[in-house]
Amino acid sequence: MQTKFFDTDITFLKGVGPEKAELLKKDFSIHTYFDLLHHFPFRYIDRSKIVSIKDAIYQDDYVQIAGTIVSLTETGKQRSKKLIAVFSDGKNQIDLVWFQGVSWVKASIKNKQSYLLFGKIKKYQNQFYIPHPDLQEFNAENSFKKFKPVYSSSEKLSAKGLNSNGFEKIISQLIQQVEGKIEDPFPLDFIQQIQLLPLDEAIHEIHSPDSLENLQKAQYRLKFEELFFLQLELLSRKLINHQKNTSFCFNKIGQYFNDFFSHHMPFELTSDQKKVLREIHNDCKSSFQMNRLLQGDVGSGKTIVAFFTMLLALDNGFQAALMAPTEILVQQHFDNFKEFANVLNLNIAKLSSSTKKKERSSLLSKLESGEIQIIVGTHALIEEQVIFKNLGVVVIDEQHRFGVAQRAKLWHKNKKNPHILVMTATPIPRTLAMTVYGDLDVSIIKELPPGRKPITTVHRFESSRLSVFQFLKEEIAKNRQIYIVYPLIEESEKLDYMNLMEGYESISRAFPLPEYRISIVHGKMKAEDKDFEMQRFIKGETQIMVATTVIEVGVNVPNASVMVIESAERFGLSQLHQLRGRVGRGAEKSYCILMTGNKISKEGKLRLETMTESQDGFKIAEVDLKLRGPGDLLGTQQSGILDLKIADLTKDGEVLSRARTIAIKMLEEDPSLEKKELQKIREKLENKLNNKINWSKIS
Ligand code: ADP
Ligand code: MG
Repeated sequence: MQTKFFDTDITFLKGVGPEKAELLKKDFSIHTYFDLLHHFPFRYIDRSKIVSIKDAIYQDDYVQIAGTIVSLTETGKQRSKKLIAVFSDGKNQIDLVWFQGVSWVKASIKNKQSYLLFGKIKKYQNQFYIPHPDLQEFNAENSFKKFKPVYSSSEKLSAKGLNSNGFEKIISQLIQQVEGKIEDPFPLDFIQQIQLLPLDEAIHEIHSPDSLENLQKAQYRLKFEELFFLQLELLSRKLINHQKNTSFCFNKIGQYFNDFFSHHMPFELTSDQKKVLREIHNDCKSSFQMNRLLQGDVGSGKTIVAFFTMLLALDNGFQAALMAPTEILVQQHFDNFKEFANVLNLNIAKLSSSTKKKERSSLLSKLESGEIQIIVGTHALIEEQVIFKNLGVVVIDEQHRFGVAQRAKLWHKNKKNPHILVMTATPIPRTLAMTVYGDLDVSIIKELPPGRKPITTVHRFESSRLSVFQFLKEEIAKNRQIYIVYPLIEESEKLDYMNLMEGYESISRAFPLPEYRISIVHGKMKAEDKDFEMQRFIKGETQIMVATTVIEVGVNVPNASVMVIESAERFGLSQLHQLRGRVGRGAEKSYCILMTGNKISKEGKLRLETMTESQDGFKIAEVDLKLRGPGDLLGTQQSGILDLKIADLTKDGEVLSRARTIAIKMLEEDPSLEKKELQKIREKLENKLNNKINWSKIS
């Protein structure tokens, strides 16, 4: 595009002015002509169809009716003034009602005139009527646009006249002005080869389509362009990363690694675990920084991979850090690693906000001197006072819980970039991974450690509670332990707390002392109390753990064989899957029981069905993505990168794959896009690379 013209501030557009411009900027980030042209309709209304009044009343959408105004009456006074017109299509009649702008409307419409009416039917006290219809004089020569675009607007903008119709007006006016000025970033050859609509046509058609076919072509072109540049950017970042971000070379597999591998491993590694370790080792010995995402379902055995990665650093004379999102998880990793570390004579420490002052300062100085080789911690690790002698690798567990900025800080702990391994137990659908982590290398552990039995998952209604309790008693009689989890949703924290406490009481009644002992853990407890209760359960002193979702992440009690989830319809899919992953870790047959009331939404039902039918985290993530959309799935911290204007990751997987393939090919043939015909693509890419935060550096 010719930048100057398209960069014109939106204030200068006829019909906008400073007040509306301010709102456009605030509500929709529309600052320039370019931005306005990219405010695409979110749906279209087919205006080729004209229906009768009789058929119209059965439709829940906008309709178009041809007819005549047969009478006009004004009623009420001042504020309650309204205008009622009776509209007839020759067979039936319906009231048209205006509550606002009465005098103006009255003056502009004519009795006995034929109109093409456009509006939505409402019902009030068994009477059908159409509020504020759009009327256009109807005669044979009139031609109407087939598809009417519908734009999203805000309340404030609508009040200022920029409702959907208002947007349509200013955009169509702008489109007339840009005629001949739109330059396509793609060269003609490219456009023909992959059969895209040229950009100017696409922009025109998307706002004012002539036919469904053209509209679809326009949508495809714009989606493709958006995803193509996103992929080009991510792939370039990866390329830059691989070529420019040097890091330490871990070329040695030394004594720590070999000793642990040959003598102290508690089990054989699965072939997936071995494969991932090879990938990690290859990265770390390349002299360029590793930026790897390790995806593996709950219980797939990521921890040992993390430990070996740390040993690689130690063997080459560096320190290693592992960061986890909660105190409980840090404790658990620490306990695990401590056992390993002891047999290898390693110096390992733990840092969190509860680390006492004295201990903390001695710990910090040992970190700085290099005496501590491995540190496990919460986000306390990223505080400024934490200084390393030579941090070689950082492992980040349960990555989605950390904000982007937090991770960036840890990154800057060194002059040289440490290697980064990000681990997540929330499998990310392929389309999303390609987009959010398109600049990272991805390793996947698919295969679970041997001996895992599938977890039987059932859905039970409140009415079966007694038999569920009976089943729990049978399991406890076999010396198994049980989780009972209550939802925790921030908006209704108080209610949730009450629910939990009521639940706890009723469970205490159903499972009385001294035969049964119950732990309880929730967010309102002090950290020490929480820990104490957790430990009792971990040690097997209690048989039932009543908890909120604080136990969701990472907790490992192999003897626990039943997970009961109360009000399961209120949980998201990935959360349900995470919770279920807490059981099935030992040799025993495990169960997950989803308890719900009788009323469940359609979406809730789909979630429950997905859970009872599948245990494949990737499959579940795909359904979750469809249900919730990418923003929710990733959390707000990362949704910025998904700020897509037209492409929809839940639906446009194919366009995305194609765009990525073509972008890969382009970069392979011409890595710095030096060919003359690629000049505009290069400029656009450089703009993106310079403007944005460097995502690869902070993932
Ligand atoms: P996650 O990927 O969820 O972090 P963990 O690393 O905690 O999974 O592993 C889950 C359980 O499986 C742990 O008890 C661990 O000791 C065990 N485990 C991991 N790898 C293997 C293996 N190759 N063979 C047998 N058990 C394994
Ligand atoms: Mg884990």
